[in-house]
Formats: sequence, C-alpha cells, structure tokens
Amino acid sequence: MKKVIMLADCQSFYASVEKAAHPEYADQPVVVAGDPARRSGIVLTACPIAKSHGVKTAETLGEALGKCPELVVIRPRMRTYIDVSLMITKIYESFSDLVEIFSVDEQFIDVTGSLKYFGSAEEIANQIQTKIMLATGVWSRVGISENKVLAKQACDNFAKKNSEGVFVLPQAEVSRHLWPLPISQMFGVGGRMTNHFLRMGIHTIGDLAKIPLAKFKQMLRARMGKQSDIQAELFWQTANGIDPSPVSPGTFSSGQKAIGHGMTLPVDYSRKEDIEVVLLELSEEVCRRSRAKGYMGRVVSVGANGADYDRPTGFSRQMTLPDSTNITKEVYAAVRSLFHRHWDGQPVRRLGVALTGLASDSIYQLSLFEDREKIRRLEQTTDSIKNRYGSSAILRASSLMASGQARERSAKIGGHYK
Ligand SMILES: [Mg+2]
Repeated sequence: MKKVIMLADCQSFYASVEKAAHPEYADQPVVVAGDPARRSGIVLTACPIAKSHGVKTAETLGEALGKCPELVVIRPRMRTYIDVSLMITKIYESFSDLVEIFSVDEQFIDVTGSLKYFGSAEEIANQIQTKIMLATGVWSRVGISENKVLAKQACDNFAKKNSEGVFVLPQAEVSRHLWPLPISQMFGVGGRMTNHFLRMGIHTIGDLAKIPLAKFKQMLRARMGKQSDIQAELFWQTANGIDPSPVSPGTFSSGQKAIGHGMTLPVDYSRKEDIEVVLLELSEEVCRRSRAKGYMGRVVSVGANGADYDRPTGFSRQMTLPDSTNITKEVYAAVRSLFHRHWDGQPVRRLGVALTGLASDSIYQLSLFEDREKIRRLEQTTDSIKNRYGSSAILRASSLMASGQARERSAKIGGHYK
C-alpha cells in the first residue's frame, strides 16, 4: 500500500508567533531580528506584510528599514518559539504517532494509518491547519505525497503558493507538476549547485530527471570529482520523486537521560591548566556522542574527586544553560566556569562531565551572534573523520600537551593498548 506523508510548514514562524502575542501589530509589517538596536542586525523572519514591502530573510535591518521605514522590529525569543513548535508537534501527534521534526517550523507526518479515523489526506491537512491556527495563531501549509522528498517539494513549490495552503503531489504526477520547474527550485539545490547544473545544460527539474542515472553520475563526476556519486544519486532521486526513507519519530522521549564521560587520571593533577585540558577532552567526547545520537542538552554537570577515598574531597555541580547545545565550545565554557567556581584547589584524581536535559537536536537554536549552523557542520565533519579514522585523527592542540589524555587513551581499548 502506498504511504501518505505530509510535510507541514509554519508560515513566517517567529514573526507569526510574535504577531499572535501582540495583536496590536496584526496589520503592521513585523520582523524578528537579531539585535534590534543595530542596523547590522539580521532579519530572521519577516511577516507576509513586511515581505510585500520587499523585506527578505537574512538581510540586515538597515536594508529592511530602507525598504520599509515603518517596520516593527522584535527581538527573538527562541525559547518561546521552541515551546510553540513542540506544542505544534503535539497537534500532529494527535493525528499520527509517526511525526518527525525536520526543523523548528517544519515536520513530517505519516498519516497512512490515520485515514480511516480522520478522513482523507486533504481533510486531515485542513484539520491540522485549523487546530494550529486556533492554538497558536500560526498559519501552516501542508504538502502531501507518497514520500518525504515529494511532500517537501509539494509544500515548498505549491502549497506555499496557493490560497488553501494544501497541495497533493502524487508520484504519478511528478512529470506534470515538478519537471517544468527551474532546477533552482528543486529541494537541496542551492545557488552553487544551480550554477553547476546550468553549465551542464540542466535548466529544469525534468532535464535532470530524464538523464539516465549512470550518465548523470558521470556528468557530475566530471564537474565535481569522484566523491560526487552519492550526491548525484540523491539529486537524481529528488528530481524523480524517489525517497525510500521512512518518517522516523525522535527517539529521545523514550531513551537516554544523560550522556556522560569520566576519566581517572594517572596521577593527581593540581595545576588548573592541566585539569582544564582534561575537562576540554571530556566535553569534546560528551558532545561528540551527543551529536552522534542526535541529542542536545541543557544541563551541564562537572564532577571532580581526589584520590584519597578515606578522606573524600571534591564536588559535583551542575548548571542550566540558556539554550540547549551539543557544541563543544559552549559545553566546555560552562564546564570550565563550574569547575573554577567550585574547585577548592585540592589535587584531583577523577574528573567527569555530563550533559542532561536532553532533547532532539532537530530543533536547534539560531544564535544571533555567530553562525551556529556553520559550527555544527564543522563539528559534524570532525566527528565523521574521527569515526572513520579513530579519535586521534583530529585533536585540539591543547591535547598534545603532557596532560592531554585523549591521544594516549585513543590508542587503548577499554584502558588496554590495542
Ligand atoms: Mg516556514
């Protein structure tokens, strides 16, 4: 039996949440922007009225105010947006237990098993739109198809552009609806890939879809090198509306409560510089495991103990961060400040770091002060190199100091040399 899968997207999410909270701005152009006091702040979301004045996401406030001087500028409240997003997840979960968070304002829902209870796919989409509007004041658009990549493209290319905000794109109608669109409109194709494709003579999604896969792989290899085969396959499948991946609900609710890592040192450490190196290694390991499992945590704990079990010294303390994270730099900053606040200067023999208050990292925070997505990608890349070549393949320079334990430990399995 064919599946029925939806991608539901919230329109101008942050701005819509703010407009619901401030009815006085209902008819005004509103943006949510980092650092509203500065013209260099970045527009995170523009409401449809602001967009009709030409205001765009990711431009500076200065540019936006140039186009629309009467713009209402609101400081982001990320915690609130995540709470609203999770409230919306609950609405989807009242229709199906197969809900997958794709981003803070987009989620996949597999309603195959729900049709017999709630009506046709379009009827379910309408019920979802009404429930979300009543509960949060946010307008949502729903793409419907047989798999995720088509549901996503049904939403982005069609449901977002019609007045009902719902579009059904069956696999059998891909050639009619999807193929005439410019290649830049295909899911996963950004500016750089668009240029590659145009130079390869691929102008529409159909141009790509109709090239035999083996030939398309050759063409992409010629432009981008041998390692492009997997990418070629994904692009080709996307153009043809093929996607075997299931809607997989987040696993964190049923699963793990903490990710922690501890280390017994070869000798007592008393210098704070030496201890910090180990704390950084532990933070790195905890974050790497969190990222591998798709978690972020909000509570950071640090423990330190002395060697003398008869006269126990040490402490174990925790702190809650403003935002969930799995970024080493952020966790280590918290670990370090906790340690310095509570360490009494006694020699340390055992150290531990843990991350709790776990949630799926599919919903992550946009930091307004630095490109968090870039850091995330960088850390994912280092992780994949470590997973492939062993964790000593990339080490922070400080681990090369005498107190660094990571390099030596990575040569051991379970404390024994390989
Ligand atoms: Mg959206």
